[in-house]
Amino acid sequence: MGDYDRREKLKEFYLKIKNCKECELSGSRTKFVFGSGSACAQVMFVGEAPGKNEDLQGLPFVGRAGKLLDELLGSIGFDRSDVFIANVLKCRPPGNRDPGIEEINTCKGYLLEQIKIIDPRIICTLGKFSTNLLLNTDKGINTLRGKVFKVDSRSIMPINHPAAVLYAPSRMEILRQDFQKIKRLVDSDSETPACKEDILDLKSETTGDKQSKGEQLGLF
Ligand code: SF4
Repeated sequence: MGDYDRREKLKEFYLKIKNCKECELSGSRTKFVFGSGSACAQVMFVGEAPGKNEDLQGLPFVGRAGKLLDELLGSIGFDRSDVFIANVLKCRPPGNRDPGIEEINTCKGYLLEQIKIIDPRIICTLGKFSTNLLLNTDKGINTLRGKVFKVDSRSIMPINHPAAVLYAPSRMEILRQDFQKIKRLVDSDSETPACKEDILDLKSETTGDKQSKGEQLGLF
C-alpha cells in the first residue's frame, strides 16, 4: 500500500470509529483518543489507555508522561511525527483505573486494525497491558522489557511505561537504554536486526491461552 493510500485508509478508519459506543467507557469519556503520528511510521508505540489530560485533549501521551516520551524520542533522533502513538483503549477508564478485560477485548480490534493499516516494522509496547495483548502472554513487564520478539515480519519490544518511570525514577536509566536499543533496531536491516541476539521465539517465551497466537495476530 502506498503512503497516500495508507493515510487515507487510517483517516477513513478514524471517522468510522470515533463515535464508538461499544463499551461503557463511551459514557464517561470527554474525548475519544484514536492515536497520532505518521500513518507510514516504521515504529509504533502502544500504551495502555488515555489519562486525564489525554481525555481532555483527545491526544495520546500528553502531560508529564508525554513530555518524557517526547524527550526519549528526541534522544534517538525522532519526533512524534515520525512514529505513531496509540493505546490499547481509546477512551479513558474513570479515575485512571486499570483497563478491564472486557474493555480490552471490546476495543482491541481497533488497535489491531491500526497496526494492519500502518504496518510498522517495530512495535514498542509501553507497560504490561499492551505487552500482554500483543505478545499474547501473561508474563510481567519486568521479565519481558528490553527483549525483542519476532512476530511474523515484525519486531515487538516491550518497555516500561513512561508514566511508571515517573513514579520510579530509578528505572529511568533502563528506559533510556531501551530507547537506544530501539534506535539500533530501527537502524538495522529489516531482515537482520542489530539486536538479533535478543530476538526470541514467541512460542517458547509466551504462555498460551485459549486464543491462539495465529488467531490473535491474524490481523497483522
Ligand atoms: S474504549 Fe474502545 S470499545 Fe470502549 S467505547 Fe471507547 S473506543 Fe469503543
